[in-house]
Amino acid sequence: MADLPFGDRTDFDAADRGFVAALSPAIVKTDGRVVWDSDSYGFLAQECPDTAHPSLWRQGQLCVKQGLYEVTDGIYQVRGLDLSNMTLIEGDSGVIVVDPLLSVECAAAGLRLYRDQRGDRPVTAVIYTHSHADHFGGVRGVTDGSVPILAPAGFMEHAVSENVYAGTAMNRRATYMYGPALPRSPEGQIGTGLGMTTSTGTISLIPPSKDITHTGQEETLDGVRIVFQLTPGTEAPAEMNFLIPGRRALCMAENATHNQHNILTLRGALVRDTRVWARYLTEAIALFADQADVVFASHHWPTWGGQNIVTFLSQQRDMYAYMHDQTLRMMNKGMTGSEIAEAMRMPPALEQAWHTHGYYGSVSHNVKAIYQRYLGWFDGNPAHLWEHPPIEQARRYVECMGGREGVLAFARRYIDDGDLRFAASLLNHAVFADEHDSQARSMLAEVYTRLGHGAENGTWRNFYLAGALELTGDVVPANLDSATSPEMIAALTVEQVFDSLAIRVDGPKAWDERLVIDWRLTDLNQRHRTTLSNGAFIHQADPPPQPADLTLTLTKQQLLGLLTGQPADGIEHEGDMDVLNRLTAVLDDPDPAFAIVTP
Ligand SMILES: [Zn+2]
Repeated sequence: MADLPFGDRTDFDAADRGFVAALSPAIVKTDGRVVWDSDSYGFLAQECPDTAHPSLWRQGQLCVKQGLYEVTDGIYQVRGLDLSNMTLIEGDSGVIVVDPLLSVECAAAGLRLYRDQRGDRPVTAVIYTHSHADHFGGVRGVTDGSVPILAPAGFMEHAVSENVYAGTAMNRRATYMYGPALPRSPEGQIGTGLGMTTSTGTISLIPPSKDITHTGQEETLDGVRIVFQLTPGTEAPAEMNFLIPGRRALCMAENATHNQHNILTLRGALVRDTRVWARYLTEAIALFADQADVVFASHHWPTWGGQNIVTFLSQQRDMYAYMHDQTLRMMNKGMTGSEIAEAMRMPPALEQAWHTHGYYGSVSHNVKAIYQRYLGWFDGNPAHLWEHPPIEQARRYVECMGGREGVLAFARRYIDDGDLRFAASLLNHAVFADEHDSQARSMLAEVYTRLGHGAENGTWRNFYLAGALELTGDVVPANLDSATSPEMIAALTVEQVFDSLAIRVDGPKAWDERLVIDWRLTDLNQRHRTTLSNGAFIHQADPPPQPADLTLTLTKQQLLGLLTGQPADGIEHEGDMDVLNRLTAVLDDPDPAFAIVTP
């Protein structure tokens, strides 16, 4: 760390370049409730304290900068008013908005800030670069949907599908990853590496009116010619980069930002593909680099200058390619994920480039993700094939180490020796063997706090500190609940609606039920059949004629209402309505506040 180039101020110059105006105060509210407050991070102006990793502190100082910035002639960015950036491209008669942030309130505040400086230009089009909510959730803050909205093919399916199946678990883990319950202070939350944190306003979703389906596709919006590169399976399943030839400006969406990104985000998701990611970066350089004087993205600050652009994109590309190839090389020599993660050394030339550092992703967890993508959770060692689950294992370890006194004494020794990683393992066993052991809890909280303060990765820091907080206080339930946004729910396909119902069936409770329900959706002109048998809720579209226990004729809105507990008033039916009650009787509710650091 000592040899990191802290004297190199290039990133600070780039993050300040083109500054036009700041939002003051930098607070966004809705109905009196604060949904965004970057002033609360004012302490980052101080020197790095010993409660933070200097490299992450530096990243926080860069990410916290907020306001309107000119990228190049006729292209502006609102930065630091949400986790992500909103880009504004001026056209003949108005302005095109790229990625309208996560919350409606923040997007509206960003657009106001822009208009205060650049005049009251109407929004003439919207572009979503990819299917993550921090790039579309604020759309109703900039348009009512009466303008063209462009998105990569597959956008709608992926925009909602991530929240359908594992949404509750992801949201709960996201409270650890982003640390909304942590104090914003030199000892607490200092950012996530990708931005400061997520805003907590209203999430909206307007479906795109036009898909980008292939690389090389050109569109002219408000007089601005745009050339697209489709990059499915990179940072998001539906994502795209684009060039604006007339302005010599390249947008890299979230495929090249000023950090090492996640191959597997710690809140949980499907694992991403480093090989494809690197390949699309190579393609972007070949297609666009010589036609651009600036590259910008939907997080962080731009990079100006032809050679700088090529260096930046090539280093990002090499970083992902190197991690992928070296992980596979070591895997094929028999090393396991945790062994490879420990052995992996990034090339010194890449280490010297700040933007390859693991502020959001990390070499450690990304290498394990690559292993997981190819080989899965099992490392091939039969000792790991059928291990006891955490509580059972903890009880036995504690017994073998001479009871809790022995474990705590060992833990103290490892803490004193500076081996916090093993101390965490020992104390985790003590807490899982007896969750009421307050001494073990406070020792583990101390270890997590020190691990957090030493982490270069923002999300690691937040995970450790959130764990410490919950060990010594209360569990903080998820507040990032995009799954309950009405427009996200309305965007679900009928199949996704039934899928989300199927994963709520309490299997054992439903073992002996057998129900057949036909659903006729009048507004969509669709017929669906659901069958509950052996505890499995099976969905079939366009079913063959066959007697059903109940046939319901309704709209999709009524279907959604029914499944969220509204009465069946006005819904036409044939058969026994009690069938519906028997179905809801076997539904289970997810737990948005499940325990993580305790049993
Ligand atoms: Zn993003």
